[in-house]
Amino acid sequence: MEDFEFVSPTHFVFGHNAESKVGPMLAERGARKVLLHYGGQSAIKSGLIDRVCASLEQVGIEYVKLGGVRPNPEIGLVREGVALCKENGVDWVLAVGGGSVVDSAKAIANGACIDYDVWELITKKYPNTEVLPIAVVLTIPAAGSEASKNTVISNDELGMKTGYASNYQRPKLAFMNPELTFTLPPFQTAAGITDMFCHLLERFFDDVGAVPVTDGMNLSVMRTIRAEAPRVLAEPENYDARANIMWAGMLCHQGLLGMGRHEDWATHGLEHELSAYDTTVTHGAGLACLFPAWMEYVYDANPARFAQYGYEVFGLAPTGDIESDALSAIDETRMFFASLGMPISLGELGLDEDNIEDAIAEMIPTLRENKGEPFGSFKKLTMEDAAEIYRLAL
Ligand code: NAP
Ligand code: FE
Repeated sequence: MEDFEFVSPTHFVFGHNAESKVGPMLAERGARKVLLHYGGQSAIKSGLIDRVCASLEQVGIEYVKLGGVRPNPEIGLVREGVALCKENGVDWVLAVGGGSVVDSAKAIANGACIDYDVWELITKKYPNTEVLPIAVVLTIPAAGSEASKNTVISNDELGMKTGYASNYQRPKLAFMNPELTFTLPPFQTAAGITDMFCHLLERFFDDVGAVPVTDGMNLSVMRTIRAEAPRVLAEPENYDARANIMWAGMLCHQGLLGMGRHEDWATHGLEHELSAYDTTVTHGAGLACLFPAWMEYVYDANPARFAQYGYEVFGLAPTGDIESDALSAIDETRMFFASLGMPISLGELGLDEDNIEDAIAEMIPTLRENKGEPFGSFKKLTMEDAAEIYRLAL
């Protein structure tokens, strides 16, 4: 087992009407003026924003609103948020939405405490210990940003999407009411499930041997997601299925399920370039296409690890041929994503033999900048390997 440090400061409020506690719990922590940050439409339409405002007003907390966060959140709105925080003396950032809103809120909470451009902080990976405290009302289980140490921000002008990790930006409060996810369209539900499952894959496949205490929990949550996914898609208002998926999404990315491992994260790197190249690509959909291709490309570094994953997550019976068992596990992964209604080839996202090389030429330089070379852990990859994986995913 590798050495590690782990901190998880998030206070979770999980269950029915969790969001009604936003005002009182922020007041208890001394909040006086919050930036209320949210997305495009869904939280306004459902009345959630009005309910959160009422909860703040009830305890006399002032707020400044900044909506309009799009999926794959952009640095322009982050900069607006930073300016609003500085002008208004904001002391907490309250994100109401999914990973995109939470990530944007994290970037704002950093930017509000520094005297230079937040894009510089993110790209240069400067350490920053002064961050406004963040609270989250989660509306889609997927990214796990409600407790993770990461934020991922796009810059349209530079055609980049890049991550920034820091324990100081982990949310202090997360309100998680599964009922808020009943309105998710099937595609968003499925993309979220794919993303969370991939967070476990990134942690399970690396160059460290078995870490039974971590691996056992990881595989168990993978099995749970596999069992609950069809239930939640068939019955969108099944509270227990939604609740299991929502809590799983948090567990997949808060960090605990990768402790003592190096973790891989090559495929997330490849996907971030894809959704920077085409900002309409949903993160989970990009992963559904790229993960099986990455698996096919790297599995020979340790086929037994893939075989174990196949036995424990998909219930495959050992055939005595580890290589063939590893390949069956990869097939099962692709079929699982397809069963959720996810695309499983880049062709379904508009790429083909004619335009893939142009796309690769655009993605590789920023991939090199973001990930360095070589990258990944299960198998060390060059930029040529990355290009091959994009081609394999066609
Ligand atoms: P999202 O981008 O926050 O939201 C996806 C869509 O779902 C939006 O169009 C949103 O619409 C809609 N939506 C959200 N809640 C809804 C609800 N309850 N009912 C109906 N529609 C709803 O999705 P996400 O997958 O959580 O976040 C994706 C981003 O997170 C990507 O940029 C990805 O790279 C990043 N990410 C971050 C981390 C991390 O640790 N920070 C990890 C993995 C991925 P509205 O805008 O109208 O609300
Ligand atoms: Fe992700």
